[in-house]
Amino acid sequence: MKLYNTLTKKVEDFIPYEEGKVKLYTCGPTVYHYAHIGNIRNYIGHDILDKTLRYLGYDVTRAMNITDVGHLTSDSDSGEDKMEVAKKREHKSAMEIAKFYTDAFFVDFGMVNCRVPEIVSPATENIDEYIKIITKLLETDYAYQSGGNIYFDISKLDNYYCLTNQDSNLVIGAREGVEEDSNKRNQADFALWFTTSKFENHELLWDSPWGKGYPGWHIECTGISIKYLGEHLDIHGGGVDNIFPHHTNEIAQSEAYLGHKWCNYWFHNEHLLDESGKMSKSKGGILTVSVLKEQGYDPIAFRFMCLGSHYRKQLMFSYDNLEQAQNTLNKLKKRVNLLKENGELDKELFDLYVSKFKEQLENDLNTSNALTVLYEVLKDDKLNDTTKIKLIEDFDKVLSLNLIVEEESIDSDLDKEIREKIEERKEAKANKDYALADQIRDDLASKGIKLIDTKDGTTYEIIKD
Ligand code: AMP
Ligand code: ZN
Repeated sequence: MKLYNTLTKKVEDFIPYEEGKVKLYTCGPTVYHYAHIGNIRNYIGHDILDKTLRYLGYDVTRAMNITDVGHLTSDSDSGEDKMEVAKKREHKSAMEIAKFYTDAFFVDFGMVNCRVPEIVSPATENIDEYIKIITKLLETDYAYQSGGNIYFDISKLDNYYCLTNQDSNLVIGAREGVEEDSNKRNQADFALWFTTSKFENHELLWDSPWGKGYPGWHIECTGISIKYLGEHLDIHGGGVDNIFPHHTNEIAQSEAYLGHKWCNYWFHNEHLLDESGKMSKSKGGILTVSVLKEQGYDPIAFRFMCLGSHYRKQLMFSYDNLEQAQNTLNKLKKRVNLLKENGELDKELFDLYVSKFKEQLENDLNTSNALTVLYEVLKDDKLNDTTKIKLIEDFDKVLSLNLIVEEESIDSDLDKEIREKIEERKEAKANKDYALADQIRDDLASKGIKLIDTKDGTTYEIIKD
């Protein structure tokens, strides 16, 4: 398997630390708000990685944190804890906010068929681990106490900027808007532990050898990863905005603590953009998978749209693109569901197509080419339907597009949707809003659904393509 590694800036052969086993870590959501569809794109990218590794036969153990403390609005050490921002907005306790948005996250995560990692751990449940690591970093002089806080001293490392090569725009971009902190020896040092000397009204506080306080954001991923996955991590990932400062700081503190290399492969997903640029929770007006579903889209169409592009390319979200993905997916599902088992599995051809499919995924997760292999299967006259069905079932272990479903369930969902539209159109007519009534009819027509008005009401016909 070949995978792009942010650490070396190359596509490399993936070789796990322990043969046949993979320890995989994903940076989880900050649960101060809903996860927008950009965040979910990132988790779909990780899901494909996770499922591809399993498909290739690796024994994968995957962990993900839930950030419920310590992530400040700047991504660095200035600003306010995002959970405190949410508390003011919603007049609830930090733990109530965390619970609500964690539950909402997993609903959306499940709707796009993402597999839940073996280990999911909230930052607030691993405080002892952070204290243990910080204590050792202080003993070995990698960390220092100043103004009540504990900071990591980046001057103690030869290659702190190993992920970004220092001159990268990522570093400069991330530094914008970050206030000077006179407690730091070097402004690039970062906080491991805050005491109340810095943020007086913080709700979540724990006793520590340095006074009551709370952990910095970066230490949580180091702590959770080492606690659950051990001292050697194979792959660690997040979105590209995590490269600096978050992952840079994770590497610094983890390797200083362990005294050896920690993680061999760094996996980063590009962003989902909208017309205004990178989607972000702090901008407000958050578009979620649940909202897309309420608007009548199939969440799996969003997954399909993501798989059509490479995880290392930016992807532009628009309703047009989503609609197109939805139509293509519906057509694909219809074609798949027309297949009827007819004879023996052709093992030779089955293996040939499985190896073609694997080849695309092994090439740095080329999901769009993997989808092309799926279309080749459908088109190939040498394959009987039984073999096609078995291949599609097999590919869907990674793609997770619900390609093989009972015909009845697609039809009944579609039927319900169309009947709702017919009702809306009837109401529009009753209100003399003929423009809306016509628009509803035209929208359905563009999806191949023709409305037929009769004296007993409206029925419909699906125009086959
Ligand atoms: P957060 O909940 O803000 O901590 O973000 C969760 C994950 O989503 C992080 O790994 C981010 O890098 C990633 N992310 C944030 N914004 C986007 C975006 N617009 N597109 C894709 N991934 C994103
Ligand atoms: Zn993280």
